Amino acid sequence: MSAVVTDLAGRVLAERAETVDVAALGLQRGMDELAHLAREVLPGAPVGVAISVPGLVDSAVAVLRLASVLRWRDAEIAGLMAARLNLPAEAVAVDNDANLGALAESLDGAEDLFYLSGGTTVGGGLVSAGAILRGARGFAGEVGHIAVDPVGERCACGRTGCLETKANLAAVLRAAAPPGDPLHDPALGVEGRVGLLADRVRRGDQRAATAVHELGVALGVALSTVVDVLDPDVVVLGGYFAELGDWLVEPVRVELAARPLGHARVVPSRLGLGAPLRGAAHLAAERLFANPTLVEEATV
Ligand SMILES: [Zn+2]
Repeated sequence: MSAVVTDLAGRVLAERAETVDVAALGLQRGMDELAHLAREVLPGAPVGVAISVPGLVDSAVAVLRLASVLRWRDAEIAGLMAARLNLPAEAVAVDNDANLGALAESLDGAEDLFYLSGGTTVGGGLVSAGAILRGARGFAGEVGHIAVDPVGERCACGRTGCLETKANLAAVLRAAAPPGDPLHDPALGVEGRVGLLADRVRRGDQRAATAVHELGVALGVALSTVVDVLDPDVVVLGGYFAELGDWLVEPVRVELAARPLGHARVVPSRLGLGAPLRGAAHLAAERLFANPTLVEEATV
């Protein structure tokens, strides 16, 4: 869990993270822990809050429909957080982490971009003409189940060879090192394990290099479909993919270049694993600018 406080111009004032087994805590205690972290990082009353979650969010009604990683379903987390922070429910927004990552990356000036997010699962977010494109229920951009390998592994969704089976962090680490290797140690956290993998590729570890290259090819195959359908200017490799950008960008470019419409630029995320959080802070500020009466409600 991590929390960041920014001013209305997006300058970071405070930041804090802690390692928590959120799935083991369950929804209510998980929200207690998150509220505690929020109060630690900002003891005063915030004028707006946005929560980034790795799951399917119906942002119009601020309900998390499903986060399989957290084992949360139909959770009204905006209301739960508002009650804990003594805020009106309207002051709290909820969105999908990849949507927020896309929003954060677009603040650099890219009006049409696709953000691919790598982690325990694989997600995507789309900014078109400067705004998050959510689709009818808020699930647009979820590319984790695009088929990239017809004879691949069975996916949790029931199909075979989905991008997620090849590109989730655990699968890449399994391809990169044998069981029992320190690369699989959860105590290192995502950053620690990915940093270790990057070190090995840098030092010429052949198994690690092959695993990362194959990841790049799988991303390229899936992104070819995405680029054909959505025509973004920029494709951003986010989440843990950012850290491996030196070796992923090239195979992705090669796959895209083989397609007639493959003109999109491919770049690693500047913000890395922190992108969704920065996007959340921006969303909270954006909602205030759109409806300044939220400030009054929040501070009464
Ligand atoms: Zn699947």
